Amino acid sequence: MSTQQIVFCPDRETSDWDSISKIINQALQNKHFSMVYQPLISVNTGKVVGFESLVRCQSPEFGVIPPDRFIPCAEHTGQILELGNWIIHQALLDMKCILNHGLGDICLSLNVSPVQLLHSDIFELIMSLLHKFAIPPSALKLELTETALINNPQQIAKAFDAFKHEGVNIWLDDFGTGFASLSLLRKFNIDGLKIDRSFVEGIANNDDDFTLCSAVIAMAQRLGLHIIAEGVQTETQLQILGQLGCDVVQGYLLGKPDTLTNSLKMWAS
Ligand code: C2E
Ligand code: CA
Ligand code: CA
Repeated sequence: MSTQQIVFCPDRETSDWDSISKIINQALQNKHFSMVYQPLISVNTGKVVGFESLVRCQSPEFGVIPPDRFIPCAEHTGQILELGNWIIHQALLDMKCILNHGLGDICLSLNVSPVQLLHSDIFELIMSLLHKFAIPPSALKLELTETALINNPQQIAKAFDAFKHEGVNIWLDDFGTGFASLSLLRKFNIDGLKIDRSFVEGIANNDDDFTLCSAVIAMAQRLGLHIIAEGVQTETQLQILGQLGCDVVQGYLLGKPDTLTNSLKMWAS
């Protein structure tokens, strides 16, 4: 196996964070981070309505390191601030390119960490880049995990309000996994929910997952929220989600995350 194929996945002990943190530093210095894009597809039209930007780390020494290994470490060490600024800059630069390819009304879904929202000036950074690249604020969706709301709800709500005031959309990621109370949803003035893929996975053969997905979609509709189901891998899942009234889907069935060049080749006719 070549080093390129090795997936660095040490134990989930925080003691490993020292080594991951060193790799993050090297990767920041040597430009080993890159962005990939996964299409978001409208259930009604089958057309691409957006892309989610996802960061990748390819270390020459350790191979591919999955983001769910290095993002928590980067949040813990504060490296997410520098990495997050790089991600925002690269993803918005790529979004400018996507918009120039005539794909129509397209949105960029950008993952942000609560650490960035609370400890950096990402509001100024994002607004200045949107302006510089002539991207309408309404074409940007910031995704924050449901768990992030539970700690520091007041500060997070304040940060959301600043973005909402400028027309940027706020979405809750991994909905259903974080035990955020339903009353938090009202407090946070969000635009949409992403149903976690662990529930979508069982929608066709697990009664509890089906009940949860249908309840979340019905609740979102009543609250006037948009909804995206992630991790759609089979036609049956897609069909059920469509019947339940889900607007937009994302998953390997519709398209895997890919480089900007390949995404444009695939989706811009
Ligand atoms: P997420 O935001 O929930 O992103 C969706 C994850 O599900 C991505 O994993 C994507 O590749 C994967 N996925 C999409 N469709 C399918 C499917 O049909 N089946 C399966 N099994 N997986 C699917 P990825 O890229 O490994 O990212 C993992 C997590 O790392 C993300 O979860 C997000 O929490 C975090 N992350 C990734 N990129 C960024 C980033 O730029 N900034 C921040 N703060 N976090 C990021
Ligand atoms: Ca996400
Ligand atoms: Ca998610």
